[in-house]
Order: sequence, then C-alpha cells, then structure tokens
Amino acid sequence: MFEALSGKLNGVFDRLRRRGALSEADVSEALREVRIALLEADVALPVVKDIVNKVRERSVGQEVIRSVSPAQQVIKIVNDCLVEALGGGAPGTDGVEHVPGLSLNAAPPVAILMIGLQGSGKTTTSGKIALRLRTRDRKKVLLASLDVQRPAAQLQLETLAKQAGVTSLPIVKGQSPLEIAARAMQVARGELYDVVILDTAGRLSIDEELMAEVAAVKAATKPHESLLVVDAMTGQDAVNTARSFNERVGVTGIVMTRVDGDARGGAALSMRAVTGAPIKLLGAGEKLDALEDFHPDRIAGRILG
Ligand code: GDP
Repeated sequence: MFEALSGKLNGVFDRLRRRGALSEADVSEALREVRIALLEADVALPVVKDIVNKVRERSVGQEVIRSVSPAQQVIKIVNDCLVEALGGGAPGTDGVEHVPGLSLNAAPPVAILMIGLQGSGKTTTSGKIALRLRTRDRKKVLLASLDVQRPAAQLQLETLAKQAGVTSLPIVKGQSPLEIAARAMQVARGELYDVVILDTAGRLSIDEELMAEVAAVKAATKPHESLLVVDAMTGQDAVNTARSFNERVGVTGIVMTRVDGDARGGAALSMRAVTGAPIKLLGAGEKLDALEDFHPDRIAGRILG
C-alpha cells in the first residue's frame, strides 16, 4: 500500500531539497504536486483540500522559507498533516484521541463484534485477533460465527480457531444469529472467558437486512468493540461502506485488510475524516500473525519514508 503515493511525494521533496533556498512560488508548486499525488492515490477530495490548506497555512510563514533547511521544514509540515489525517496528533473532530489497537478494558467476558461485507477479511481477522489475544495478552478467547447465510462460514471459523489455539462455539444447526449470540455470551459467562469474538454474516453489498441483523446483535450483546473490517483494495468503496455502517450501527474501530497488496492507500487517509471512526488495526497478509496496530505516525513515516 502507498507505493505510488510514496514515490510521487518523495519526487516532489527531492526537487525541493535540491533548490536550497525556497520562494513562495516553489512551495506553491510543490503543494500543487502534493495535491495531485493525493488525488491520484484516491484520497477523498475534502481530505485532500484539508491537508493541502493546512500545509499551505503552516508553511507560508516567513520562518519556513527563511529557515536553514526550508525543504526539510515543508516535509515536516506535510508529515504532521498526514499524521492528523490518519487520526493521530490532535484529537479528531469528535474530540476522541486516536488509541492504536483494541481497547478491552471492561468486565469480562468482553464482546468484540466483527462486522463487514463478504470477502472483506472478517473471518480471517477474527482468527488473527483471537491468536493475538491468546498469545500476547494471555486471554481466554471464545470465537463464535453468527453467519448462517453461508454454510461453510461456521466451519471456516472453527478451522481458524484451531489454528489460533482457541475454542470455537459448538455449531448448532438451525439457530438464528441472535440465538447463537445469546448462546455465546452464556457460554462465555459460564466458562469464564475473557473475550468473545462474534463474527457476523457479510453480504456482497450493504442492504437493510444486513444492517438490521447487525444492529439487533449489537443491541443484544452490547459489545465493547464493534470492529468494521474493510478491504483496502476497494478504495473509496471502503470509505463509503464505513460511513454507512457507522451511521447505521455505530462502529468503534476499523480494521483495514490487504494492506500487503498494492492498494493506493487513499482509503486509509480518508477514513477518519469521512467516517469519524478510527482505524485501529491493519491486516497485512493471509496468515494469522499478519495483524498490526495502526499507528498514524508510523504510517505517515511509511508514506514519506
Ligand atoms: P470474510 O468473507 O469477510 O469473512 O473474508 P475472509 O476472512 O474469508 O477472507 C477472504 C479472503 O481474503 C481469504 O482468502 C483470506 O485469506 C484473505 N485475506 C484476509 N485478510 C487478508 C489480508 O490482510 N491480506 C491478504 N493478502 N489477504 C487477506
């Protein structure tokens, strides 16, 4: 992810560095190129405008142009603006500060609701989170599939649970998602699980039935985290999906998958501003250990690296 964007921004900055002293016109030209690079990376237009305006405001001050290394100053300002767009630095518009990773600070069993469209990587991510919680955080984890749409889905989660070394809720045919969720919570309370991961059914596109089902499961289980899984490769669609889910059912965080692919990265840069929800985790491969916390500063570093 971000390869093309990174290449283009570095080209802009190399040219700036070679100039030594910078005029306002040089900075304007660089900003024009930054704008094009962000648009080509599929960053949402309002986010592009916001980033470019902020960089302009902060770099037109005479201190930047007269400083010893003006190009370096401009790069630092762009870096800071990218960090902010990614949800870091100052608290977001909702006043919430970005905290990487999951927040599981609640009385056990803590429920994590996994939401997303079919194929986004929801079930794989459920397995990844289970593995991490078991091995890194020493939690007793129960995985439960509420997907009664695809017969193979419950078996897929059972297989992933085995790979992650955690328990999966025994499959009972004929139960509704709400019945399975209630059973999972009951087992978790009775058998003293720390965390229950509820993997809901996906659909090919957002529809009313999906939203109503997710909303009902959420109301019944009161999850501490409602994680929306989106595929970075789907670009602006991922952002639109997140906006709809957040408006309709409310999400506490986004997991962006397939960042190991050649996604342009615009979705990651647009997500916080457009949807209001923070990216918390990244899926960076098919294997169960390919899960990373989302650190806005490190991601900005990767883009400008
Ligand atoms: P679901 O329908 O949302 O539950 O999606 P799955 O978890 O079944 O994932 C669909 C496909 O995407 C599977 O082949 C996964 O191995 C693959 N996948 C999931 N996450 C990632 C990721 O972060 N990177 C890559 N390259 N593939 C992934």
